[in-house]
Amino acid sequence: MTTLASLGFDDFFSTQFEQFDKSWSPARVVAEGQSSFHVAGCRAPLADLSGRLMKTLDKLGRPVVGDWVAVIDGVDRASIQHVLDRRTTLVRRAAGTKREPQMVAANVDVFFVVTAANRDFNERRLERYVTAVWNSGAEPVVVLNKVDLDADLGPLLEAIERAAIGVPVIRASAATGVGLDDLRAHIRAGRTVGFIGSSGVGKSSLTNRLLGREVQAVAGLRNDDRGRHTTTARQLIELEDGGVLIDTPGMRELGLLEDEGGIETTFADVAAFAEHCRFRDCKHTTEPGCAVIAAVETGELPVERLASYRKLVREIAAAARASDPLLASRTKARWKATHRAMRARSKVDPKLKRD
Ligand code: GDP
Ligand code: ZN
Repeated sequence: MTTLASLGFDDFFSTQFEQFDKSWSPARVVAEGQSSFHVAGCRAPLADLSGRLMKTLDKLGRPVVGDWVAVIDGVDRASIQHVLDRRTTLVRRAAGTKREPQMVAANVDVFFVVTAANRDFNERRLERYVTAVWNSGAEPVVVLNKVDLDADLGPLLEAIERAAIGVPVIRASAATGVGLDDLRAHIRAGRTVGFIGSSGVGKSSLTNRLLGREVQAVAGLRNDDRGRHTTTARQLIELEDGGVLIDTPGMRELGLLEDEGGIETTFADVAAFAEHCRFRDCKHTTEPGCAVIAAVETGELPVERLASYRKLVREIAAAARASDPLLASRTKARWKATHRAMRARSKVDPKLKRD
């Protein structure tokens, strides 16, 4: 049975309710329709923004899949009064020419970063996805899928360890079912998970394995406003054994935006060497006394790691110049990410090991 708790309503959200009008109730956005939001947890299946929110919410503040909202409930329609502070936010650059920030999903707790054990495997791409996940405030778990193919897993696992320092790794096969239990071990009641990774790595296949019979779960045909019929695939699905899966097409391709500490966490090795650079703001390019370049010269740091680090830093700097400042609601993610960065770094820098 669906309850607020099974949908992921926990203390982080319920405490926000203390300040609201007693007539408001919580609901979670399960899909964005043409002009309304599909919601769960309240009586009405559809909700619209209140007139006030319609005027005051900016692009990034608008509800997205995974958001918790406060509604005035109704029989078939609810009215959204407030979008609750988000615990995590996955933001990407919009496709097309404008390349502005776009909120993809909110309040995902764990992202399975899927990669495949074949020649599509790409260490650099993995760094990019893991960085994006750290920046969202969620926890990454790397899934090496297609282990049924006859690949030499040793070097791939080593590459993953280099690219995703301190991140749990699961070997899986959507084809044989291997590793699915390890995946499920990261999913539990009230937790929200999602898959990201480039196309073809097996995200849909793994999703289908997790969902079992529910594969075709869709919100179905609804009589949307103005008599228009629209089909909206439900993008937030409760799993049978507990837990919530968010599956939105927007999570498929990611460009990086501004950094929330994700780069430092992903590149904990670079960050550890950088502690010893002569200049605090060293860019590790041509500065004298750069400990990062020195580490590359002695072979302690792979040159590809430094190149990849620089590329992501440049990409984020370019995006930051091109876009609006992001929501204040993301400061929480930044705070968390900083702590994670420390944790990840302690794994590579013995000086930081004592707790
Ligand atoms: P997505 O684009 O990431 O959603 O990838 P899909 O789930 O659509 O899978 C892409 C292709 O890889 C399909 O032809 C799948 O049948 C195949 N595939 C997915 N997982 C596995 C696996 O574990 N092993 C093998 N051999 N093929 C797989
Ligand atoms: Zn340096």
